Amino acid sequence: MERKFNFNPGPATLPLEVLVELQKNVVDFNSIGMSVLEISHRSKGFQELLNTTKLLLRELMVISEDYEILFLGGGASLQFAMIPMNIGGKADYIITGAWSKKALKEAKIIGNPVVIATTEEEKFRRIPKPEEIKFSRDATYVHLTSNNTIFGTQWSTFPETSPIPLVADMSSDILSRKVAVGKFGLIYAGAQKNLGPAGVTVVIIRKDLAERCPETVPTMLRYKTHMEENSLYNTPPVFAIYVVKLVLEWVKRKGGVEGIEKINRKKGGLLYQAIDESSGFYRSTVDADSRSLMNVTFRLPDEDLEQRFIQEATALGLHGLKGHRSVGGVRASIYNAFPMEGVERLVGFMKEFAKANR
Ligand code: PMP
Repeated sequence: MERKFNFNPGPATLPLEVLVELQKNVVDFNSIGMSVLEISHRSKGFQELLNTTKLLLRELMVISEDYEILFLGGGASLQFAMIPMNIGGKADYIITGAWSKKALKEAKIIGNPVVIATTEEEKFRRIPKPEEIKFSRDATYVHLTSNNTIFGTQWSTFPETSPIPLVADMSSDILSRKVAVGKFGLIYAGAQKNLGPAGVTVVIIRKDLAERCPETVPTMLRYKTHMEENSLYNTPPVFAIYVVKLVLEWVKRKGGVEGIEKINRKKGGLLYQAIDESSGFYRSTVDADSRSLMNVTFRLPDEDLEQRFIQEATALGLHGLKGHRSVGGVRASIYNAFPMEGVERLVGFMKEFAKANR
């Protein structure tokens, strides 16, 4: 098989090593004569797998025992509702893109959230500056999206909100760089970009926050339920959890989060350099201090050229470069598993395309 370079924003490219390992081991789990997909989620073998996966994430992200790690269904989108249901409806929201807006929409159904900063008027081309954010004194939590998958912006430093818990949607940049987990009350991420396949959402929650949940919240929607049952209250997404374990082992082999971050900085650096050195042929759609290392978005001089750029790139094996339909242009999603070689190939193509079409 000739493997394409897959710039899709999610589900996204997985490490080839992980896919091969999966193919080899999925039929016979730990030489027991059954697949991991066939055994009980309450079996010793699966529980060991779950606990190993948790330990790996705890080690890689340096998560203290004050936090519980949960593996839930429903995507990151279910978290938009579970967070206000469990932690309280009068929260502060920082709006930096389409996903923050979706989170806010759910919070409005549950309670009375307040928008404390937004860059929507500037088409979300940047992250708000600290002096633009006016926190409420009585907020139940502060919510932000650490990386904006569609607009290509990313928080470089997080605001200090203590004692109010900071809640972050890290769906598109979890495990891509060092983060001080202790700054957060809750971190959540759909797995399908940096952690594994779609189907499981990782929630890292400070244990005391689960105690806030009102009695009116149904059992399945309570963090406390999943904490008490070690994510086994009901049948968890066993396959997805298995793949997450393999991905975490791969991250460890790459030198952990520190090693991965170094590679991510190099990959993002190469692409932004190609944009900056194109004498205006490629235009970044975001401010320099808000640039994402995960989703690199840019425009060409006109839409016809953008279409041709994407077509020609696809023909060369560079797939998934079309910008989100609400934004247009080009978006190169270069998550942890996206290889350096693919970035180098894209940069080479960008140079040739600019030369031929200037
Ligand atoms: N938040 C962010 C930042 C995302 O990029 C996405 C999906 N692309 C979501 C939330 C929604 O995730 P899910 O499809 O798992 O509900």
